[in-house]
Amino acid sequence: MDKENTLRLAALLHDIGKFWQGSGEPHDSRYNHLTPEDYGKHGAHAKWSASFVVNYLPEEFQNCESLVSYHHNSKNRDLNLKIIALADWLSSGERRGLEEGEGKGEREKTPLISIFSRIDIGKGRSSSEYSEYRYYYPVKKLELNRDVIFPKPLEDLKRESGPGAEDWLKGAYKCLWNEFVDEVKEIKTIRDFDAYFNTLYHLLQKYTWCVPSAVWRSKPDVPLFDHLKTACAIASCLYKSNVEEEYLDNVMNGLEKRRRGNLSECEEALNEAKFLLIGGDISGIQKFIYAITSKGAAKGLRGRSFYLELLSESIAKYILRELSLPFTNLLYCGGGHFYILAPGVVEADLNAIRKRIAEILLEIHKGELYLVLEWLPLSANDFQNEKFGIKWGEIGDKIALGKKRKFTEILEMPGMHEKIFGPIDRGGTRCEICGSEEGVREEEGRMVCSFCKSLEVLAKDIARANYWIETWKEGIKIREEERGCWKDALSKFGVEYEFKENIEIETLKKEDPEHEHIFVYKLNDTNFTDVISGCTGTDMEVPISFGFKFLVKNTPYNTSGEIKDFGQMADDSAGIKRWAVLRADVDDLGMIFLGGLGEDRTISRISNLSFMLSLFFRGWIERICEGEGYKGKIYAIYSGGDDLFIVGSWDRMPEIGKRIYEDFRVFTCRNPNITSSTGITIAPSKKYPLSQAADTAGEALDKSKSLKKEDSTPIEKDGITFLGMPVKWYEFSGEITNLKANLEKLLKAGGVSRAILQKLYEIYDEYKRESAKHGEALAKYDDRYGRWRWLLAYVIARTKVSKENEPLLRETEKLIRKNIEYLPIAVRWVEFLTRKEQGEKNG
Ligand SMILES: [Zn+2]
Repeated sequence: MDKENTLRLAALLHDIGKFWQGSGEPHDSRYNHLTPEDYGKHGAHAKWSASFVVNYLPEEFQNCESLVSYHHNSKNRDLNLKIIALADWLSSGERRGLEEGEGKGEREKTPLISIFSRIDIGKGRSSSEYSEYRYYYPVKKLELNRDVIFPKPLEDLKRESGPGAEDWLKGAYKCLWNEFVDEVKEIKTIRDFDAYFNTLYHLLQKYTWCVPSAVWRSKPDVPLFDHLKTACAIASCLYKSNVEEEYLDNVMNGLEKRRRGNLSECEEALNEAKFLLIGGDISGIQKFIYAITSKGAAKGLRGRSFYLELLSESIAKYILRELSLPFTNLLYCGGGHFYILAPGVVEADLNAIRKRIAEILLEIHKGELYLVLEWLPLSANDFQNEKFGIKWGEIGDKIALGKKRKFTEILEMPGMHEKIFGPIDRGGTRCEICGSEEGVREEEGRMVCSFCKSLEVLAKDIARANYWIETWKEGIKIREEERGCWKDALSKFGVEYEFKENIEIETLKKEDPEHEHIFVYKLNDTNFTDVISGCTGTDMEVPISFGFKFLVKNTPYNTSGEIKDFGQMADDSAGIKRWAVLRADVDDLGMIFLGGLGEDRTISRISNLSFMLSLFFRGWIERICEGEGYKGKIYAIYSGGDDLFIVGSWDRMPEIGKRIYEDFRVFTCRNPNITSSTGITIAPSKKYPLSQAADTAGEALDKSKSLKKEDSTPIEKDGITFLGMPVKWYEFSGEITNLKANLEKLLKAGGVSRAILQKLYEIYDEYKRESAKHGEALAKYDDRYGRWRWLLAYVIARTKVSKENEPLLRETEKLIRKNIEYLPIAVRWVEFLTRKEQGEKNG
C-alpha cells in the first residue's frame, strides 16, 4: 500500500477504537506494554484502533497501524503522522480537539445526542443543557426503521434495553461491535485498495453513525462516522498539498498557543489558504422537470427528476476523480447540489474543469441546464469553532450569484454564442413532451424524442430496482440504440449507470479491468455485504466497491403494469376525481445551517446535519410512501436534501402531508426551531398542465411560510395551505381534521344531507361579514356580533340524526364554534370527499 493510501486508511480508522472501547472489552494484548508516553495524553483509544487494524484488516492494508497507534503523539515522528494529528484537530474544530480524552466509563453512560436537539435559531426555548428537547439515538446499525433513526429521551432508551439497565449501553456497544467486525471479515476478500476503502467507508457509516466521537468535555453530538470522514477528507487535502513539516508544526503550535489565549508567530500558518471549499449547483431544475406537457408526462416524471440527481452526482464524482480525491471529500451531495473539500493547490485545475463541465452540459442540454461551480479558499483557522459554518453559508451566497451569470466562462469561445442563444427551431417535428426536435420518433401514437423516451424507461427501472450499479471508466462506448438517451449524456462524465432488481456479481461487465471501477449499491437496505460472499478476491478482475444508498422510488402502477398517469390517479380519488400536488420543505433551512449550532458549526457537525436531513427526505419518505393507504395512490416525483414534491390522488394529500409533518417533528426531536411547511394544490381538471399545478403548489407553500405568530414576530411558518387557506400545522392536524372527520361521519353514517354543507358556508360568510366590521376577536367571541352563532344553533337544531349520533352532532357544533375561522377548509374537504363522480374506466 503506497504512502497516500496508507494515510487515507489510517485517517479513516484512527478513532475506531473508541467504538470498541465502548463495549468494555480489552484491546489486543500486543499493546499492553504501551504507556501514555507512547500513545500520547488522552490517546488510550489508539490501542483499540490499532488492535482493530491488526486483527481485522487484510494483511496488505495493515501497515497503517503505526499511524493509527500514535495519532495522539505525533511529536518527533513522521510527516504523515502529523498530518493525521492535525486533521483530527481540524475535524473537531474546537478547543476540545486538543484535549479529547475520555473520563473512565463516560462512554458507557452517554449515547449520541441528536444534532437536531441542539439547533436554536430563536424560535423557541433554547436547546441548552437542560432543554426538554434532548433526544438520543440508540446504539444500533443504521436502517430505515423507526426504532433506529428516530431519537428518543434517554429514559426511553434505557427502558427499552430491558432489565439490568446498569450496563445497558456497554451491552449495546458489544452487540454492535460484534456485528461490525463480522461484516468487516466479510469484505476481507476485496483486494483492490479503492474498492476496500469505499466499502469500509459504507460499513463505518452503517455502524458508527450512532457512536459519539467524544463524550468528555464536549457535547456528544458528533457521530464517529462524521469525524472519521471529515478527518480523512482533511488529511487527504494536506497530503495532496505536499505540506511541509514546518507548516504542520506551526499550525499545531499556533492552535495550542491560542488555547492558552495568546496569539503567536504561528498565526501566519493558521491563516494560510491550504484548502478549498467547492460548491456546485445545477440551475434550471424546476423548468427541466415540470415545464413539460401533461400528455403522458407522469410516465417519465420521476425519471426526469432522478436524472438530475444522477447528473449532479456524476459531476461531483467527475470532479473528485479529476482531482484524485477520495469519497470522503464529497461532504454532501443531494437535491441538485454538492460540496467538496479540496486542497488549495488544485485551484488552477478547477477553472479548466469548470469549463469542461459547462461545455458538456451545453452540448447535451443546449443551455437548459447549467452547473454553477464556485469555490472559496479555507485556512486551518476556518475550521475553528463557528468559522466553517460561516464559510458554508458564503459558498451558498457565491453560488446564488453565479446563477445570475450563466455560461460566462465559455461565452468567449468562437461560435458559442450561437450555440446558447442561436436558432434551435429548425421547423421539424417536435417531441410532444419536451418540445425538442432531436431524435423524435413515433411511439404508441405520439411523437417523442429519444431522451424523453429513455427517461420513461429510467422511471420504470428505478421503481423496480434493488441495486444501483455505477461503472466509472474512460471513454464509455454507448450502444447505437442508446444514442441521445440519458445514459449517453452521463457517459460524457465517464460514468455508466444501471438499475437492477437482482444482480450476480460475476456477470458485471469487465471490458477494461485496468481502467474501470464498479460500484454496487443496495437501495434502501444497509445489509449490502451479502452480495460479496458469492465472489472471491481473485475472480474480481475489476475492482468493485460495495455500499448502500437511500432513494425514494415508490411508484404507482395500474393493472397493466404501466405507471399511472395523472388521469388515473385522479380517478382513484375518493369523492371528486382530481389529482393534486404536494410540496413541502424545511422552514428557515439557511438559518439552521448558518446559526443553528452557535459556536459549534464545525465541519463534522455540518456534515452530520446534512446527512440526517437527507436521511429523512431520501430514506424515511420512501417508508412513508410505501405504507398502507398511500402505495399506488401517490407518486413521489422528488424527495431529497430538504424538500419534496409529490403528485397523486387528491384525497391522499392532506393525509400524507400530515404523516410526513408529524414524523419530521419527531425525527427532529420536536425542537420548535426545526419545522416544515406544506402546500397542496388540487388540479382543476385532469388535463391541467403540471407546470401550473407545480407553481400553484409553490404559491400555497409560500402562503404557509408567511404565517405569523399572534404578536406577528418573528414569522413562524410551520403551516399547511390546503384548499387555499393557510393554517398552522397544529391547528390543521388537530381540530380541523377532527371537524372534517365528524362532518364526514354525519354525512356518511349519520344520514345527514349534503345540504348542510351549503348552510355551513352561509354561516361562515356571516362570520366573515361581522369580522370585517368588528374584527375577528369580537366576531368570534362577542355575543353582540355573533349572529352566525344563532344561525349555527338553528341549523344544528334542525339537523335530524339518530340517537346514537346525537353526541357526534353536539361535538361538531362545539368544534365549529371554536374553529369558525377555519370552517371552509373542513366543509370543502368533506364536500369534495362526498361528491359522487364517476371515474373513467381506463385501465
Ligand atoms: Zn422530449
